[in-house]
Amino acid sequence: MSILRSWRRRRWLQRHPIPDRTWDRVLARTPLLQGPDAEGRARLRELATVFLQEKTWIGTHELEPTEDMRVQIAALAALPVLGLDLDWYRGWETVILYPGEFVHRREEVDAGGLVHEWDEVLSGEAWERGPVIFSWMDVTASGRLDGYNVVIHELAHKLDMLNGPPDGFPPLHSGMDVRRWTRSFTEAYEELNGWLDRGEAPPVDPYAAEHPAEFFAVLSEYFFEIPELLHETWPAVYGELSAFYRQDPLRWPGGRG
Ligand code: ZN
Repeated sequence: MSILRSWRRRRWLQRHPIPDRTWDRVLARTPLLQGPDAEGRARLRELATVFLQEKTWIGTHELEPTEDMRVQIAALAALPVLGLDLDWYRGWETVILYPGEFVHRREEVDAGGLVHEWDEVLSGEAWERGPVIFSWMDVTASGRLDGYNVVIHELAHKLDMLNGPPDGFPPLHSGMDVRRWTRSFTEAYEELNGWLDRGEAPPVDPYAAEHPAEFFAVLSEYFFEIPELLHETWPAVYGELSAFYRQDPLRWPGGRG
């Protein structure tokens, strides 16, 4: 299994390597990226290099995505596919960067034909077959091992969308048990909603209870950022995510000391 399958990707890696100093700087300020072992970090760098080249980067509001910004996002983006392959990010090509949170106007027509409009404040967004959007401020708050990671969140949505609208059910690998996945996630989702209904403080961001798709995306953040917490709360979900991402962050040697 190699990301260097195609000649084009191999050539990119040779011609456009991420400079050592840039890579070291990004790793130094992002504890999460120090997690994998040396071999894993080398692969992370290769995946990030190709991701940088294969995606189109657009800044808004006069933000010009610098090399450091792009490398930081590409490195975080490489993490969920470290055990998979960049082909899992197929079907879309643009990363849009806002300086901070952004507002999207939402519109809904109710049963009586009335149009309701409201503003939604977002830190990131993933469009089906479209771009991924990040608030740069929220990217800088990601990777600090506290469970918050807008890059992993939005890219988990992208993985979820590979087999249709986001529903918390990405394409599973052969050998994975669909019923076990569904049971593990459904039980945990219902438990979280039960805690919230009873006014109890949940161990994870309550936003996860909004929708099964958000549950999968938020729990993916915890899986990488605070695997101990997820494993302790819902060991079955941790096991399913570990099988899906083909990674076991609980066993990572670095970044947590
Ligand atoms: Zn989301």
